[in-house]
Amino acid sequence: MNNPTPAGCDGLIAIRAEIARAAADSRRSAGGVELIAVSKTQPREAVERMISCGQRVFGENRVQEAAGKFPGLREICPELRLHLIGPLQTNKVREAVALFDAIDSLDREKLADALENEAQKSGRLPRLLIQVNIGAEPQKAGVLPDEADGFITDSLKRFPNHIKGLMCIPPAEADALPHFQALARLALRFGLPVLSMGMSGDFPRAIAAGATEVRVGTALFGSR
Ligand SMILES: *Cc1c(COP(=O)(O)O)cnc(C)c1O
Repeated sequence: MNNPTPAGCDGLIAIRAEIARAAADSRRSAGGVELIAVSKTQPREAVERMISCGQRVFGENRVQEAAGKFPGLREICPELRLHLIGPLQTNKVREAVALFDAIDSLDREKLADALENEAQKSGRLPRLLIQVNIGAEPQKAGVLPDEADGFITDSLKRFPNHIKGLMCIPPAEADALPHFQALARLALRFGLPVLSMGMSGDFPRAIAAGATEVRVGTALFGSR
């Protein structure tokens, strides 16, 4: 019994070590960076393995897929926390509010309206992040940088206890660091403590820029 860690946890251990190293390089505490294991397209068994390795926080980008996978997993692991990291359609808001602990992709007024409505009906509202389209890419979700100040101000008025920070997916080809830094400055201006940024290819740089949540899929579960 000298090794209580189940087999197959090496990937998770390695990512946690990388997070700790990146945090230490910036004189930050590793405890200040939450790892969100992005389990989209992965089967339920892969999530169960990750749970047996000690991982508790997961991210999914589609409501339907998460609804099929997670309710049973919550029974075996009540401390599990589930984030919606993908775009949310207003017709899925009811289901999303019931299923997720965090919705990290609030990016438009119509969605804010639907969330407010559902919160009034159900008496429940997950933790919210505002997604910023930090590279102002035409095809990407998120509020545009030019409109971010107004949208953040309005959202904070509506959901003062639920909006905790900002999320971004920077342009794929460019150096992500300036984008991470821009998101961090924006969060700081509004006094928002949570910054969800950094994926498999760039999470150490995101941590250098102040990420408090990194969303890692392929580097943990393998390619999709
Ligand atoms: C898929 C996804 C990730 C994880 O990406 P990897 O490169 O596989 O780590 C992170 N964030 C969002 C929003 C995603 O959709």
